[in-house]
Amino acid sequence: MRSHLLNDTTAESYRRSVTEGIERVAAKLATTTRPFTGITVDALSPRIDAIDLDKPLLDTTAVLDELEDVYLRDAVYFHHPRYLAHLNCPVVIPAVLGEAILSAVNSSLDTWDQSAGGTLIERKLIDWTTARIGLGPVADGVFTSGGTQSNLQALLLAREEAKADTTAELRVFASEVSHFSVKKSAKLLGLGPDAVVSIPVDQDKRMHTVALARELERCRREGLVPMAVVATAGTTDFGSIDPLPEIAELCEQYGTWMHVDAAYGCGLLASVKYRDRIDGIERADSVTVDYHKSFFQPVSSSAVLVRDASTLRHATYHAEYLNPRRMVQERIPNQVDKSLQTTRRFDALKLWMTLRVMGADGIGRLFDEVCDLAAEGWKLLAADPRFDVVVAPSLSTLVFRYIPASVTDPAEIDRANLYARKALFASGDAVVAGTKVQGRHYLKFTLLNPETTVEDMSVVLDLIAGHAEQYLGESLDRAS
Ligand SMILES: *Cc1c(COP(=O)(O)O)cnc(C)c1O
Repeated sequence: MRSHLLNDTTAESYRRSVTEGIERVAAKLATTTRPFTGITVDALSPRIDAIDLDKPLLDTTAVLDELEDVYLRDAVYFHHPRYLAHLNCPVVIPAVLGEAILSAVNSSLDTWDQSAGGTLIERKLIDWTTARIGLGPVADGVFTSGGTQSNLQALLLAREEAKADTTAELRVFASEVSHFSVKKSAKLLGLGPDAVVSIPVDQDKRMHTVALARELERCRREGLVPMAVVATAGTTDFGSIDPLPEIAELCEQYGTWMHVDAAYGCGLLASVKYRDRIDGIERADSVTVDYHKSFFQPVSSSAVLVRDASTLRHATYHAEYLNPRRMVQERIPNQVDKSLQTTRRFDALKLWMTLRVMGADGIGRLFDEVCDLAAEGWKLLAADPRFDVVVAPSLSTLVFRYIPASVTDPAEIDRANLYARKALFASGDAVVAGTKVQGRHYLKFTLLNPETTVEDMSVVLDLIAGHAEQYLGESLDRAS
């Protein structure tokens, strides 16, 4: 069994195994004609249930054959131009290469003595990101597993910086379409059930700053402490960007921590054309970025950045065996001092490879392309009487619903749209997402693939209309 350990004597078998696996994926990429096969849970689970994990196949090729059957054949493929559902991007090859290298070397980024150069590379990418944001000379940050963890850490720092006697007094302000990880974080941080104050949005789904001002004032009047305002730069549902400069003004006025959740909108940091859409982000105290959303990186790759490096001390604990306090004086860089995680992947390598091979403009142009595509999609939808479209895109999301000319009952229209989404998924021809707007069911394109064309969008809209009409036709039959 030692032949499976990666070391000097197995280098050749490592090369063969990994190449064989990569061959399978490459073949899959070359031949995939749909984003999904439409397999159901009931069809797939018996195949996985039937495998006895205590009876290994003892042969890599056989295991890859089996994997074809339980995973590769029926996986949801984000690289396909008709995958239009969630915030998943097709990934760039330099990042995938980085992924292969980082897992083989297996550095752990908690301490210098487990990573060496990895630590310095991560630090340089953090500095690159804070410079792109414009956070100033004492900014810092750390890579995380995702936006959820980044938001949690940012709010932890905000909680520790807030001047309050008890956590019960603390209030966090976020728009009604902010990410649910804000509420989850508040719970994890021991804040009260009313801690997160939901601020209404305007018709473009951006935080109403007049309402924010009113709530901040109310908070002060009631003797409560405004711990943080979470501005979203790219909401998950609409891609809308809260008015960052106005929010920054209010945060300054009320002495409140400003967190910008740019998990989605961070792609604009590399944009060649649309960087100005996130102007004001440089005034944040902390920022969440998900490179695995708009920098075309494989999951996971994310970071939390802070204006003032010293605030990261709120996440610092010293362990004699790992990162003793004296190492700080010796200027040994231990990233665990800044992180919620201990053992931690060298995810930064993927972004490093990407920037070194493609350059920031290369990534930014890809993101610009999907923003332009969304603008085209908006025109398509706005001109099509079969659809109602919600907001003009600030990033690359379109929210719309099918509105049949013959039906006026909104509940029936809801059912037709829900049916269309399910039927489309079951067909595997395309994958779209859904959400609710003012209590009604809508469909959603999240465009992150520069290979998607206007023609693709148009075809998928026709498919949706076809499925919805089929539902309505059958519904009429049922009624009569
Ligand atoms: C996706 C998203 C998150 C959560 O990020 P994960 O990487 O999925 O944990 C947080 N905020 C916003 C606005 C997001 O779109």
